Amino acid sequence: MYVCRICQYQVPDRDFSELGDGWVCPQCGVGRDEFEHSADSSSPEQPFMLMFRAITESLWKVLGNGSQGVTREMGFVLAEIIDPEDPVKSTAEYFLSHGFAASIECSEGEKHVMDVKNCRFYGFCRSLEDDGVTVSTCPYANTAAAALETSTGYRYRIRRLPGEYGHIIELSGVSKK
Ligand SMILES: [Zn+2]
Repeated sequence: MYVCRICQYQVPDRDFSELGDGWVCPQCGVGRDEFEHSADSSSPEQPFMLMFRAITESLWKVLGNGSQGVTREMGFVLAEIIDPEDPVKSTAEYFLSHGFAASIECSEGEKHVMDVKNCRFYGFCRSLEDDGVTVSTCPYANTAAAALETSTGYRYRIRRLPGEYGHIIELSGVSKK
């Protein structure tokens, strides 16, 4: 069994050997070099990651768009460990170190832009959209934005631009009233 490092998608040994070089993970879009061989087909996720994913997926299934309020609240908890001196980079590093995406490119200025590539939740968001749920933002994007909002003292709008297997998140500072 080969398991995707980002989204845990599994490919049996026999099928993996037949995949061409241009093949990408159908759920998150990373190449086959991001797959790791696992002798154990059950390939357990780390308990924390499994719980985080289970809670988030369940929220979106049960509440649909209403779950945005909950993922925002999760972000306010995450904000406790974000470095206030460098909130954007700190948030990106946290998400990357826990395998939420293959890469995150950040730029700061009048607008904070987080370009999240091969998001772990991309396949899940897409399947929700196919089921008619309007997913205006990725659950992780919501969590990250709420954490940034707390750290920077500004409010943000999140805009998701079309991208391959990921999200381009634009965090625009909005003056507080
Ligand atoms: Zn994947």
